Amino acid sequence: MDSSEGTSAPPRSGSPFARRDFSDAPFLVTWELTRACALHCRHCRATAIPDRNPGELSTSEAHRLLEQFASLRPHPPFVVLTGGDAAERPDLTSIIERSVSLGLVTDVAPSVTPRLTDETIASWSRAGVHTVSISLDGPTVETHDQFRGVPGTFAASLRAARSIVEHGLHLQINTSICPETVGGLATMANLVAELGAKRWELFFVIGTGRARELSALSADDTEGALLWLARHASIAPYRLTTVAAPQFRRVREQLSPSGSRSGAPVIKEGRGFAFVDHLGNVAPNGYLPLAAGNVRSEPFSTIYRSSPLFRVLRDSSRLRGRCGRCPYREVCGGSRARAYAETGDILAEDPACPFQPEMAEA
Ligand code: SF4
Repeated sequence: MDSSEGTSAPPRSGSPFARRDFSDAPFLVTWELTRACALHCRHCRATAIPDRNPGELSTSEAHRLLEQFASLRPHPPFVVLTGGDAAERPDLTSIIERSVSLGLVTDVAPSVTPRLTDETIASWSRAGVHTVSISLDGPTVETHDQFRGVPGTFAASLRAARSIVEHGLHLQINTSICPETVGGLATMANLVAELGAKRWELFFVIGTGRARELSALSADDTEGALLWLARHASIAPYRLTTVAAPQFRRVREQLSPSGSRSGAPVIKEGRGFAFVDHLGNVAPNGYLPLAAGNVRSEPFSTIYRSSPLFRVLRDSSRLRGRCGRCPYREVCGGSRARAYAETGDILAEDPACPFQPEMAEA
């Protein structure tokens, strides 16, 4: 299962989206086409299952949902097709072709299984996919295969990554960060460059799904990892973004020579980002399992714009604890998914951030 959802990335600097109002339409939608997946990853948000659910959105429902995304003018969202393993759906190519024909920038986040062949990747390239993301949680066979639960996945991931680049697609590498993987960051950074990736996205593990069995990084270790990544981002030959660690923005701004603030909000749960699950439920994030509505009974745009859940997540004045008092709350606001997973309150302070607003103002 890919981890590319709920990215804490700011919009590309200098892009027309940099100061866009995200109350009207998301910048990015991640769509879980199916929960079926042959892997058994230790951190799986979806607690993926071997077989497809008969209640998944049908091909025609999928095409209608894509038409709804495309109607969000003037800024239709980027679309990431994921799972489970998106390649478990035999109609995946049809869904990609419909998405691309509607003018949507379309990415695929597959699982690395025997389905991910060179020919499959070539077909996605012909269909007009923009980026394919591959998960690599450690720089060695031992770390990655142990994390993913299937021997041979590390070697297969490297083969897939090289095939993606050879077929002219953008490669994104996704890495889960938790105590078992954080020690490999520097070596992973070199591997990501060697593979020719355009983007390295780091997901700071939240205790949902199977990840409840994993321990999370402490707030201080999270801060240490973000500091290292912020310094590395200035020299990396790829774009570097985080998921479930929006305080990366605060860390980068604190490190900048002038301490300057960009003012552009991160893209996060309900604010520039939405998640559609395999049954059509719309949630702010795949790691925040609260459905705000279902596309079988309501338009996607109505759920995104008007549901109480999405509206409250876009209102940083509702945040509590340190996040509520923080001078960075508008551009960061903490991970709402982690706050909910650890406290049951979507508005609570993010327990993975050690920042003390009062000390910063003193
Ligand atoms: S206290 Fe909350 S809003 Fe402030 S930097 Fe930390 S996570 Fe972000």
